[in-house]
Amino acid sequence: MSDSGTVFSPLALTGPLSFLPLAQGDVDYDTASRQQPGLLDHLLDQDGTGVILVRGDRVAVPRGKGVLSGRTGASIRLATLPATYLRGPLAGSTDRFELPCYYLGKAGQQAWLALDLNLVCAHRAVQAPLRDLAQAADQRFDWLALREYAPHGRPRQVGLATCAVALSIWHERQAFCPRCGAPVHPCQAGWAQICQGNASGDKHTLFPRIEPAVIMAVVDGRDRLLLQHNRKWAPGFRSVTAGFVEAGENLEHAVRRETMEEVGLNLGEMRYLGSQPWPFPSSLMVAFRARSLNTNIRVDGEETDEANWFTREEFGAALASGRLRIPQAASVARYMIEQWYGSEL
Ligand SMILES: [Zn+2]
Repeated sequence: MSDSGTVFSPLALTGPLSFLPLAQGDVDYDTASRQQPGLLDHLLDQDGTGVILVRGDRVAVPRGKGVLSGRTGASIRLATLPATYLRGPLAGSTDRFELPCYYLGKAGQQAWLALDLNLVCAHRAVQAPLRDLAQAADQRFDWLALREYAPHGRPRQVGLATCAVALSIWHERQAFCPRCGAPVHPCQAGWAQICQGNASGDKHTLFPRIEPAVIMAVVDGRDRLLLQHNRKWAPGFRSVTAGFVEAGENLEHAVRRETMEEVGLNLGEMRYLGSQPWPFPSSLMVAFRARSLNTNIRVDGEETDEANWFTREEFGAALASGRLRIPQAASVARYMIEQWYGSEL
C-alpha cells in the first residue's frame, strides 16, 4: 500500500491504457523461493496448491467450455487440479529438478503450479503413470490458445496462464544451450535452464530472452489515426504500426525508425501508453501514441502495401460496413485503437 492508501496489484497498469488482456493477474511471483531445494516436491505435498495445465501456447479449460471462446461476455475459467492428484504420477517420475512443472507464485496462502504437458511428453525419463496422465489430460479438457482464452478469463487466471504459456514456449523452443550447444534442463522451478556443460565442463544458467517490440498509434495534427495493411494480412484487415526493437536501440528510436521505414512519417512528440507480454514466442509489446509531423504517407511496398489516415467518422463507418477489420480482443493494438476512438468496439 502506498502512502496515499492506494493498493496496486503487482501488474497494475498505470499508463493511459487501463486494461490490457495479457497484463492482468495479482499473483506474487515469490521469486525468492524458486531456488529452494525441493520446492516443487514440497508444493505438490501441500493440499492447497493449485495446478493449471499448459501445452505450448494453449491452456486447459473444462470440457465443453472451449466453444464459448469468442462469444461476447462469456466467462471461462481454467481447468485446475489439486496438487495431491499429481503426487502419485509425479513421484519418482524424474529426478527432482526436472519435474515438468513451473512454480507460478502465490496468491494469499495458495501456491500455483503449471504442469507442462510438452515437457512431460518430450522427456524420455518420464515414466508411464505421468505419461498416461498427460494423455488423459489431452482428452479430458478443452484446450484454448492463450489469445482465445484471455478475453474471457478472470484476471488472476489470465496472469497465471500468461506466465505458464511464456515458460512453456521458451522450454519448447530452447532445448540446447545457445552458448555451447549442450542440452539444457529446466531449473529454478521452471524460470531458468541449466546447460549440461560442454567438454571443458562449463555450465551456464540461462534465462528467457524477452524481445521488446514497439507499437504505435500514429495520429496527425487533426487527430486522424494511421491504419496500415501488411502484405501478409487478409484484405480489409488493418492495424497500427509496429516493429521489433533492434540491437543497441532504445524504445523511442525504434518508434521513430519503424514509422519512417514502414510509412515514411516523421514523428514529433510521443507518449507511453502501456505494455503487455505477447509470448508468441517471446515478445513484450510496448505501446505509444505519437504525433506525425507530416501527413504524406509513403509505404515501403515490401512489408506495408497500404496505409491511410482515418477520422473517427470514417473509421466507424468503415468498421460498420465490414470494409475494415481490426485486431482481435487479446491484442494491445485493439485497445490502442479503442482508446483513440473513445469507446469499446
Ligand atoms: Zn552451455
